Amino acid sequence: MMSACSEKQPQNIFLQEWNTPYGTAPFSQITLDQYMPAFLAGIEEEKAHIQAIVDNPDAPTFENTVLAMENASPILDKVQGVFFNLAESDSTPEMQAIEEEVTPLLTDASNEIYMNEALFARVKAVYEASAGLTREQQMMVKKIYQSFERNGVALDEAGKKRFAEISNRLASLSQKFGQNLLAENNAFKEATGITVSEYYDFMGSCEDRAKREQVFKAYSSRGNHGDANDTNAIVLEILKLRAEMAELLGYPNFAAYQLSDKMAGTPETVDNFLQPIMDATMRSARAQLKEMEALAGHKIEAWDWCYYAEKLRAQKYALDESQTKPYFQADSVLKGVFTAAERIYGIQIEEAPEVEVYHPEVRAYKLTEKDGSLIGIFYRDYYVRPVKRGGAWMNNFREQREGVRPVIVNVCNFPAPGQDPTDAQPSLLTVDNVTTAFHEFGHALHGFLSQCHYETVSGTNVARDFVEMFSQFNENFAFVPEILSAYANDYRTGEPIPAELVEKIRKSLTFNQGFMAGETCAASILDMKWHELSSAELAAFKGPDDIRAFEEKVCREMGLIDQIIPRYRTTYFNHIIASSYSAGYYSYLWSEVLAVDAWEKFKEDGIFNKATADSFRKTFLEKGGSEEPMTLFKQFRGAEPNPAALMRARGLE
Ligand SMILES: [Zn+2]
Repeated sequence: MMSACSEKQPQNIFLQEWNTPYGTAPFSQITLDQYMPAFLAGIEEEKAHIQAIVDNPDAPTFENTVLAMENASPILDKVQGVFFNLAESDSTPEMQAIEEEVTPLLTDASNEIYMNEALFARVKAVYEASAGLTREQQMMVKKIYQSFERNGVALDEAGKKRFAEISNRLASLSQKFGQNLLAENNAFKEATGITVSEYYDFMGSCEDRAKREQVFKAYSSRGNHGDANDTNAIVLEILKLRAEMAELLGYPNFAAYQLSDKMAGTPETVDNFLQPIMDATMRSARAQLKEMEALAGHKIEAWDWCYYAEKLRAQKYALDESQTKPYFQADSVLKGVFTAAERIYGIQIEEAPEVEVYHPEVRAYKLTEKDGSLIGIFYRDYYVRPVKRGGAWMNNFREQREGVRPVIVNVCNFPAPGQDPTDAQPSLLTVDNVTTAFHEFGHALHGFLSQCHYETVSGTNVARDFVEMFSQFNENFAFVPEILSAYANDYRTGEPIPAELVEKIRKSLTFNQGFMAGETCAASILDMKWHELSSAELAAFKGPDDIRAFEEKVCREMGLIDQIIPRYRTTYFNHIIASSYSAGYYSYLWSEVLAVDAWEKFKEDGIFNKATADSFRKTFLEKGGSEEPMTLFKQFRGAEPNPAALMRARGLE
């Protein structure tokens, strides 16, 4: 379209109103050179708004301080929403260069806010007088108040100085750990010929026992070779600094600090949660071990487990993915994902060709209520591309708040359909891929059905050990017969998937869980035990031998059998050493209990019971982080979550 105002200079799209369908991003008008100026303008705007809050002569209120903080950065919200999504799904060297340039600027801007004592004084005043606020406002004030405290704003000068030193040192140590681990992973590939991500598949299929032993030993000793890439010293320094930091902030150890703003609340709660799961997995693993030894005719070692588990699986269930794949064409699976949401929550989903997308393979959809009112806009970006980060995720382009409906994307790395129009091979998904599609849309529904006033606590802005509940919950619909019949048809003939094949899928999903849940649970316990040590206790740890001895003691005490090791050992446990899952690896199992326990309610009441679905939607999905998770759970279920539901779901009874 020709523009009437051609005499004007072209403006930065992020500094303008978007006159697009539903205010979605006008991707075709975004150019790389617009990002940095928009970020810089956004940071300036935010600074000015924060200063105005601090300078406000009126007494601090929720509106003039806490809400004003949420509204301080409209330009940044806009540019970040687009940039950080595309930086993951379209990670070109140009985008990476911008990311490298802007990340430290954004970190500094954020630190400046959360170290601002005058601002904190106003937030604190609102926090301490929050009795008259709504529940949602109280949750939001608490969250912001805690962010300040957890950043050390309340410390004295010496404390602040030490806190900053520790933060900086931890940042460079995590980076160093990441680099060493990357080098170790590359060395592993060189020594064995397989990549780290191929490890489990390889161990399940390699017939050469000596080779399996070699691969197992190389895999489980990463970071522990006493050479330049050894991570023992880095790990110890990180653990010691974390303990010191937690103690500086008044916590007995780092686990207590990490848990204080999570659903679980305390390390004791997590420990008491994990041990019974550990016991159940080991009972199941021991029983399976006997079966596998009978099959193998010899003692099973750690490097034999996956191999004989696959042999046993084939013998028991004979599930071959080449049988199931024709029923799981990517677009049909998406239809199933939508059908489940439409049937359960009574919403409507249709393609929205009027909405611009950022890549020709991406599709846009519109979600509406029965009365036609807009719920939000959804992009599905399913297929693998060389410039896309690995894995699968949900993210917001725009988050829900009062008067604003969300824009959400699901990004996956499913096989791309063939490009040849005369012989177009469709994208056929594995059972695991199908589960992923339902999982990510579960996160999307959490974002879409949110009915909060404030973005800070809306949608998926909840504690880490709560957020996976909704994605894991949604996975359950994938293999429900009534949903399968809406999507799982052979792409060549249209034939529906046979019932006995569905039964095989369901059975194989609970196979080998003693091992799978066992190694996850063992890693979760190891993570907790490391982070429950005080700095005085950690002072006794001098080197690699002390780390080994501690790890062995923890594994013995939790009851782990010799044939299974934690999913990650200390020297290559990236989640807890360099990533943000320290004292948090348990979150996966914790969320799963919430998900399967909620699912049991659906099964008790009938999966398509409208009252149950309405209650789930109103109690959880509409509430986001505007209430304590446990309060919401008890409202829905009438009781606290029961870990026995996880044992049942995983076949561990
Ligand atoms: Zn997830």
